[in-house]
Amino acid sequence: MKADRFWPSDEPLLRSVLDWSWQRILGGQDPTARARPVDELQADVGETVTPGGIGGAEALRLFTQVLVPATRAQDNPMNLAYVPAAPTEAALVFDLAVSAAEVFAGTWEAGAGAVVAENQALAWLASLAGWPDSAGGCFVSGATMGNLSALVAARHRAAGLRDDRPGRWRFAATADVHSSVHAAARVMDCGVLEVGGDGCGRMTGSALEAALEAGDDGLFAVVVSAGTTNAGVVDDISGVSRVCRERGIWLHVDGAYGGAALAAPSARPLFDGIEHADSFVVDPHKWLFAPYDCCALLYREPVYGADAHSQFATYLEQVDRSEWNPADYAVHLTRRARGLPFWFSLATYGTDMYRDAVEQVLSVTRGVVEEIGRRTYLSLVMEPDLSVVLFERTGWDEADYVAWSERNARAGIVLCVPTRWADRPVLRFCFVNPDTLVERISEVLDSLGD
Ligand SMILES: *Cc1c(COP(=O)(O)O)cnc(C)c1O
Repeated sequence: MKADRFWPSDEPLLRSVLDWSWQRILGGQDPTARARPVDELQADVGETVTPGGIGGAEALRLFTQVLVPATRAQDNPMNLAYVPAAPTEAALVFDLAVSAAEVFAGTWEAGAGAVVAENQALAWLASLAGWPDSAGGCFVSGATMGNLSALVAARHRAAGLRDDRPGRWRFAATADVHSSVHAAARVMDCGVLEVGGDGCGRMTGSALEAALEAGDDGLFAVVVSAGTTNAGVVDDISGVSRVCRERGIWLHVDGAYGGAALAAPSARPLFDGIEHADSFVVDPHKWLFAPYDCCALLYREPVYGADAHSQFATYLEQVDRSEWNPADYAVHLTRRARGLPFWFSLATYGTDMYRDAVEQVLSVTRGVVEEIGRRTYLSLVMEPDLSVVLFERTGWDEADYVAWSERNARAGIVLCVPTRWADRPVLRFCFVNPDTLVERISEVLDSLGD
């Protein structure tokens, strides 16, 4: 221990934290790990924040033996609930390095080395969208923050283009848009013009035009989903982008889950029109193999992001405004270089492997759709656009689905949480992990026939 420093150092303790991390990264998480009632957890954890401290060894013991077992295995290949995760080993281990480097990545002067690498990862995403080299943005915590930041920029641009104020600012979206988009509307105190979807809930250019018939005063953006969360449906970006261009409306693409499929040639045509969008988000922590938390927020013309979000103050006067300051592009100032684990994984494995990994997930999805088609007691709700599969078990009601789902979750066989489609309970698989095997899913489908 160095006597001249305030905090005592305990190298064996620090090493045991790293040893545990290492085992977790290589060994994965127990699929039966799950949340427990708060009284039970509190009783097992006891008082940990005390004047004298409980000591790192005891805190680590509680973490590994009590706390972690009460968290879900997000990256297990048989976790198909909500939107799971599938970070690469390289990305996970690099998250430790990013912590160790303790970079302030809000400004260029403090974080240039991190920012230049993060920006290369962002540039790859922008190139997949067919955007010019001048596109740019930053990484934020999640698409909730990404959607909000993009919509704030869109409204700021619209406000600058008129002298008066509309009765109410609004953006257009379908009923199937993610809940975070509605959260953004509430934060921004603006309205949502609902655009009717097709049979799969998809927004089309003509449906948008029909919704705009009644007038578009105060309409500052259209939000399309490039992969709805519930069904993985990609809106008709091409048709919608044509209407937006004709009317000079900002087009925001929410690709939090599905934007990853831009990397897959077999799915790329679904995204046609994205080259005309003004902003775009994708969560690498969903289907681009990065750990939490990581959302890429991109603007085709970043100046609109900066106009809306740059912070100014006397204590920020020395910030070099001629360089790329990620703080300028979202609702944040201090930020962790959370794009670096994603960058490291991309740099390690290469974009070809990323393309192949996303294609692998799409191919597993197609294999599972075929297996569903082979079973008379199952029916597919719709052909998937991406990697979400909605299907029904003939004769089952909600209670049957919930009981089956709960039984499999407890046994650690599969995590599959029912959802709703057209007001009926249905089963939903969301694939993001290239290690998920069709054979294992087939066994799960068999168990639905019993
Ligand atoms: C997950 C998701 C979001 C929200 O992203 P967070 O990272 O959880 O904030 C937004 N839109 C879509 C389509 C999503 O799937």
